[in-house]
Amino acid sequence: MAKRDYYEVLGVSKNADKAELKKAYRQLAIKYHPDKNPDDKDAEEKFKEAAEAYEVLSNDDKRARYDRFGHQGVGGASGGAGMNMEDIFSHFGDIFGGGFGGFSGFGGGGRSRSGRRVNKGTNLRVKVKLSLDEIANGVEKKIKVNKDVACKACSGSGAKDASGKSTCSTCHGSGQVIRIQNTILGQMQTSSICPTCNGSGETIIHKCSVCHGEGTVKEDEIITLNIPAGVADGMQLSVSGRGNAAQRGGINGDLILVIEEIPHENLVRDENDLLYNLFITFPDAALGAFVEIPTVDSKVKVKIAPGTQGGKILRLRGKGLPDVNGYGRGDLLVKVNVWVPQDLSKDERKLLEKLNTSDNFRPNPTKQEKSFFDKVKDMF
Ligand SMILES: [Zn+2]
Ligand SMILES: [Zn+2]
Repeated sequence: MAKRDYYEVLGVSKNADKAELKKAYRQLAIKYHPDKNPDDKDAEEKFKEAAEAYEVLSNDDKRARYDRFGHQGVGGASGGAGMNMEDIFSHFGDIFGGGFGGFSGFGGGGRSRSGRRVNKGTNLRVKVKLSLDEIANGVEKKIKVNKDVACKACSGSGAKDASGKSTCSTCHGSGQVIRIQNTILGQMQTSSICPTCNGSGETIIHKCSVCHGEGTVKEDEIITLNIPAGVADGMQLSVSGRGNAAQRGGINGDLILVIEEIPHENLVRDENDLLYNLFITFPDAALGAFVEIPTVDSKVKVKIAPGTQGGKILRLRGKGLPDVNGYGRGDLLVKVNVWVPQDLSKDERKLLEKLNTSDNFRPNPTKQEKSFFDKVKDMF
């Protein structure tokens, strides 16, 4: 594929000076930044193309060769293989702001060495309600969010048209204001973000009529989320670049998901373990039985041994929740409760009175397994 003219890529004239190049590149880099355009191959190509154009034109020697020989002069019409993302970020970090550490370091409204500040949209916080079943298996959720998106009428600039903007008169386009303070150590110079233009270096004269100069409008968006298994109530997941758009150009904020767990009707969560209160009849406890225990997404049959005491805890290994970091699964702990009947018929009463005379019905706690009390103490 033939390469586009570098001046055309940046949208500047052949005799653009360095400041113009930098400004043009910065605008394109923000527009096509991967944080702002997740999973958009086209934007990524444009981002790379702009970086390559700027890399050549911002270097006097390369620019001179390019002007004489075209793409051939700086690595060939098809050669050069462009730049990879890592190169772009390491070369031009100062275009955006300090503290670059790859993509994630981009935001935060960092200041560059030249004092320019990148606007970052605010983070969007959304509560996501999940059932225990969804937590156990992981889930894809579509959520509707109402968020700030770049105004299409003005491409997010906030200005009515090209003539609607002028250089900020407070900072003269630098985006920062310098203050000299007298301190006991002598004069100190501090720079801060220009309060008039918020660091953009420009002020708007004629506001866009759609967004009233904000550069953003509210819009509904459906976002598909893949929530991993094992998340817990109160946990926060961050999706980079899916939050609110920045006012008048910049980088999107993040989407922060706050997990809310819908209580299960039978099971109680204890980290990755699940707890279940089982009630059995007194005859089942004495004679032994098979009972059904609900798990998070089905049921299991469990054997109750003859002579099982109330308070016994059965541990069903691996029937709990998966660990969110992939470290195995929790258990399902079943506490056995023996249900004591509360309304007795005359006949039942007589029967029980008769049984109660038997020596076999006298409590004998010494016959319990040794760890019984410890287990109960630990669990409940
Ligand atoms: Zn200003
Ligand atoms: Zn607008």
